[in-house]
Amino acid sequence: MLNFPQTLPGVYINGTWQHGNAPLTVINPATEQPLAQVAGADTGAVEHAVQAAQAAFSAWSTTSAAERAVYLRAIAEGVAARREHLMQLQSSNNGKPLFEAGIDVDDVIATFNYYADLADALGVSQDSNVPLPSDAFSARVRREPCGVVGLIVPWNFPMVTTAWKLAPALAAGCCVVLKPSEVTPLPELELAAIIAESGLPDGVFNLVCGTGLAVGAPLAADPRIARISFTGSNAVGVQVMQRAAETIKGVSLELGGKSSLLVLEDADLELAVEMASGGGFFNAGQMCSATSRVVVADALYDEFLERLKTRAEAIKVGDPFAEDTEMGALVNQAQYERVLGHIDRGVSAGARLICGGQRPQHLPCGYFLRPTVFADVPQGSALWREEIFGPVLCVRRATSEAEAIAQANDTEFGLVASVVGQDPERTERVANALLAGMVWINAPQVIFPQTAWGGYKQSSIGRELGPWGLSAFQEIKHVVRAV
Ligand code: NAD
Repeated sequence: MLNFPQTLPGVYINGTWQHGNAPLTVINPATEQPLAQVAGADTGAVEHAVQAAQAAFSAWSTTSAAERAVYLRAIAEGVAARREHLMQLQSSNNGKPLFEAGIDVDDVIATFNYYADLADALGVSQDSNVPLPSDAFSARVRREPCGVVGLIVPWNFPMVTTAWKLAPALAAGCCVVLKPSEVTPLPELELAAIIAESGLPDGVFNLVCGTGLAVGAPLAADPRIARISFTGSNAVGVQVMQRAAETIKGVSLELGGKSSLLVLEDADLELAVEMASGGGFFNAGQMCSATSRVVVADALYDEFLERLKTRAEAIKVGDPFAEDTEMGALVNQAQYERVLGHIDRGVSAGARLICGGQRPQHLPCGYFLRPTVFADVPQGSALWREEIFGPVLCVRRATSEAEAIAQANDTEFGLVASVVGQDPERTERVANALLAGMVWINAPQVIFPQTAWGGYKQSSIGRELGPWGLSAFQEIKHVVRAV
């Protein structure tokens, strides 16, 4: 178990660690005990961080992309070298099992390496010719870093959401002010230490741990920030967008979801149950991409529910550090109570509780919850329509392919979807009909840095990862010359 005897500095500006004036107590969700004290940032620290980033911009933005790639690779190597320690930080701060923390750390490494490769490629394509319909002119298009950017991230995949923003921002040549979640700052503090060791020039990367109001809000409003890249809830996303609007700054938003898994008539039931379990219970269901709605073909409904109940009840919930733990704790008391509230309202709305809904008996302390399955969930209920962000699966039946698609699309969100079925033509057709930014067919929720991340409707503005993630931090300039 990790031990932090002293208050940790929660501010890293211009290459220097500082103790900020706003103390944060970080809780271990598996024990409900304080894990660390962080001397976090107040609004004044945000001012200094933006100033430092702005001062560093002219030099950093004119480095070659190949030079930036060297730093990105060094960060990836630093993360790989501290893999075990970072996994422990993720698990003890967020409550997720160690094996899930390992997946997170590997994703971070892959993301930094991917954007290092893309930065190398950018060295070749930063300027490219634009064919024109006239011989009297020539034109080239140039991709330039958009400026100083503010990155604001949530607590559910600390470090991963950060890497998805930070790696492309640095690759593009932007300077950064990062605000991690005040609930889970420990992985980002370690990542900042790794970045410091990578030799990245002072001021290019700055970290301000603190609350949404003291740190996030002024960052979103600061006129010197060119772009805010935010991942979090829709309620806060609206506030970020409103503040950003005052100075017409660009926003990328990765927000909530209420995604579906469609089990078609010819589905392999074992696979369907595994996909439902993964999509609902990984990270204790605290995923924007949770497929918390499961729409099952009428003919398979009863058997699917029986098998899902067996699977859910077999999941080992407990100590994130125990080797056989499959599901850890929810992140904090507020989230725990929010999810329990959803379960209570679901029962009141007439949904049939198949299993779970309570704390496991053998775990009297910690924010642990048994994997929960509801069947026959009313279509208009909050359980079916609102993001729960906990280990709760809601199942409904569909009598046709068209009805299944209509149920899945009947939401204000559109982040992801999953489809299980054996007929390739049919599964492709269904995937094409779903209003979601990512669709997995007969596959777990695999995410590669090469594939775009983001959704339709109120789930997102913009896309992260892939070349799309890089272009979010670039301005486009055309230079036209008379020949
Ligand atoms: P949150 O919106 O409460 O907080 C996110 C971040 O915003 C935190 O760092 C927080 O301190 C900061 N913040 C809070 N108030 C702010 C303000 N007024 N101005 C600026 N920043 C402010 O979200 P959360 O509870 O940390 O995370 C859960 C949410 O994140 C869920 O809704 C989930 O769907 C979403 N999420 C989305 C994705 C995605 O890729 N679409 C990924 C992960 C999480």
